[in-house]
Amino acid sequence: MSANDNAPVEAGARDDRLGGGSDSTVARQIALDGALWLVGRNFPVFPADHPGTGACTGMHRVCDGSRGKHPCVPFTREHTVDEARTRRWFGGQLRNVAVALGACSGPDEGRLLVVDSDRPGAIEDTAALLGHRHTTTMRVRTAKGHHDYYWAPASARLGNGLGALRGHFDGDIRSGNAYVIGPGSLHVTGVLYALEDPGQPPVPAPAWLLTALLHSAGRPAPATSRVAPLQATQKGLRSLVRFVLQAAPGERNNRLFWAACRAAEGGAANADRALVEAAVAVGLDEGAAAATVRSAYHRGGGTQ
Ligand SMILES: [Zn+2]
Repeated sequence: MSANDNAPVEAGARDDRLGGGSDSTVARQIALDGALWLVGRNFPVFPADHPGTGACTGMHRVCDGSRGKHPCVPFTREHTVDEARTRRWFGGQLRNVAVALGACSGPDEGRLLVVDSDRPGAIEDTAALLGHRHTTTMRVRTAKGHHDYYWAPASARLGNGLGALRGHFDGDIRSGNAYVIGPGSLHVTGVLYALEDPGQPPVPAPAWLLTALLHSAGRPAPATSRVAPLQATQKGLRSLVRFVLQAAPGERNNRLFWAACRAAEGGAANADRALVEAAVAVGLDEGAAAATVRSAYHRGGGTQ
């Protein structure tokens, strides 16, 4: 059984009153409540298609047939934090609530960054893989996983790119001129987008995450597959990453080389990137670390 099979897919978030869109009054109230919660905290919202309506209400000319996500307005210009407008948008018609990320401004003019995990715990696994701990923040449970909302510095100029997380994260990144479907919305599967803890605001994005996202901006992505659920061999990789992270200054390169040899022997997927990240985290130059890892791989993983 894979981790996904018994994942807690929000049994509590599914609301039988919304089954088949039969009670749109309840669905509308839940969406309005979600929208009011968001604008009350200064998150600009706009209406998106709701799967409970007969046809997609998105403003596009041609719909791809997916439901519950298409914007009903040109959202980069039309969004609001005004309560009256929010009530007009969500009180009378059945719409999902979307958050205009690029229009959000937080402490020190921070920008919203949403980490969209495609399964429960995906970002936690990625953090551990790279030798870090996940930072608790505002979280919205989704049909498949969760959205974590962080503040990122405006100067970071993030987009939707995964950067160095490519190959290490089962999900997506949303920031800049992007949007996400917010709490109070209904997924086409009948699962409600729900705040995990309404008292938890977004916190600043952890440095490791920003570093990873900015890492390969404008550079070719590492040649690894984007979706790589953690496998048994990557448990071993985690301990190799830890081995590098615990290196004292005089032994960093030796440890990195040793760990890369073991990773090459074991055929651990995506090991090269994780090990270079770990080496950079303990202060090695990235180019030099990458060269060390390459030479370990070229060595063919032979025993020492
Ligand atoms: Zn549509």
